[in-house]
Amino acid sequence: MSQIGTPENPLRVAVIGAGPAGFYTAEHLFRAVNVVTEVDMYDRLPTPYGLVRAGVAPDHEKIKNVTRKFDATAANERFRFFGNVDIGVDLDVSTLRRFYHQIVYATGAQVDRRLGIDGEDLPGSHSATDFVAWYNGHPDYRDLEFNLKASSVLIVGVGNVAVDVARILCRTTDELAATDIADYALQQLAESEVKTVFMVGRRGPVQAAFTNPEIKELGELQDATTEISARDLELDPLSEKQLAEKPDRVISKKLEIMRGLVAPAAETRSKRLVVRFLESPIRFLPDENGHLGAAELVRNKLVEGANGRLSARPTDEKEVIDVQLAFRSVGYRGVPVPGVPFNESWGVISNNHGRVMDGVDGTLRIGEYASGWIKRGPTGVIGTNKADALETVEAMLEDAESGHLLQPETPEAVAVESLVRQAQPDFFTYEAWKRLDELETQRGARLGRPRLKYTSREEMIAAVRS
Ligand code: NAP
Repeated sequence: MSQIGTPENPLRVAVIGAGPAGFYTAEHLFRAVNVVTEVDMYDRLPTPYGLVRAGVAPDHEKIKNVTRKFDATAANERFRFFGNVDIGVDLDVSTLRRFYHQIVYATGAQVDRRLGIDGEDLPGSHSATDFVAWYNGHPDYRDLEFNLKASSVLIVGVGNVAVDVARILCRTTDELAATDIADYALQQLAESEVKTVFMVGRRGPVQAAFTNPEIKELGELQDATTEISARDLELDPLSEKQLAEKPDRVISKKLEIMRGLVAPAAETRSKRLVVRFLESPIRFLPDENGHLGAAELVRNKLVEGANGRLSARPTDEKEVIDVQLAFRSVGYRGVPVPGVPFNESWGVISNNHGRVMDGVDGTLRIGEYASGWIKRGPTGVIGTNKADALETVEAMLEDAESGHLLQPETPEAVAVESLVRQAQPDFFTYEAWKRLDELETQRGARLGRPRLKYTSREEMIAAVRS
């Protein structure tokens, strides 16, 4: 047999997960000089793009243009998509090892982190990740129910996901109708009775995780005022000292944007978004029906840790606010892939710069890699995954060069296809996805919307067959 990585004997790679991390991995592999690679990309959904489809806020349409890059990668003749194939359910990793030289896990971070407070599981208390997946039409989340009859909502956390959720709750129906938000979500949000949204950060404004364009956008909503109290924007001595010692233009700009929200325009708007800092919920309280009725918040102060990081410590100042709906938005976590070592405390696949590592003794697993959020945790923007994927691909190519590869019994592309067909007869090729894409766009155009998503697997399968 000729050397692996040649046209006659290509390097055969399975990428698990068709989000940004998966596509950037494939892109870098195809760019490698002197190594011919074939990529089979698997996703448990029939549709590709991961969080670009199911996570990016529907009113951030421009961000979704990155899918054109992914389509360009998918157009490579050595690329195949096996959508609607759940690795760990339809096919397991040990089977894949018989067909590929290398396997890359790019499965992202699908679930939320928890607060660990009383009442967190009351009806009406949810993770932001569930709500995001719901309004974006993710098939596994479309049947969730959220109490949009609530008049007050609490969002815990001040990252960009919290901002997305706040914006979607505060947008008008017209604003939302101009997006590709799931149709059922549009209908339910049109009937929403939400009047006040509290978005609460445990630390101060200097430590707010949201980025500047995102907080600025909150001041530009059509029919909602965004406000921050002057007290919350007063800098505590520790933050002030850190900023004085290490000036940061981005943070200064963020503070300036937030100061512009201290005295919002007096005109009457339908909704209020109140951003608060230095507060944490300590328990959620039920109403008389056992549903979420209120949240008890404690005022925090900042203390400096050994590494210079400022963290929140509770004071004695407490307050109860009435809220009937709450979203915790305190970060995502990865989900283990059956048969792959997982670091429970970090919520990522155990790895060393992308090479999967057995948790117990830290030995590297031959031919297995991680890329994106499942490798480094849920940080950064979509583009951050490009550099992250490059690191993984460099490790893969180095291992290919030195012959540290899986030894598949049947590396032929055709063999895998028949295996997939057996395991999941309704798998989606990229051509099937592009057909669905076209149908969604056509359905949307008829309503003056960018796209009308199909939101169940059955609908998707029926649509491409018709
Ligand atoms: P994030 O940026 O890490 O923010 C998490 C927030 O939760 C922080 O405010 C954090 O506060 C807070 N938090 C963590 N544990 C907490 C606890 N126990 N109690 C109270 N608050 C707690 O995460 P994210 O918002 O989920 O976003 C994930 C990544 O996706 C980020 O990199 C984000 O920028 C990116 N993203 C980008 C966009 C965009 O570009 N428009 C949109 C969505 C997401 P501390 O700082 O005190 O830990």
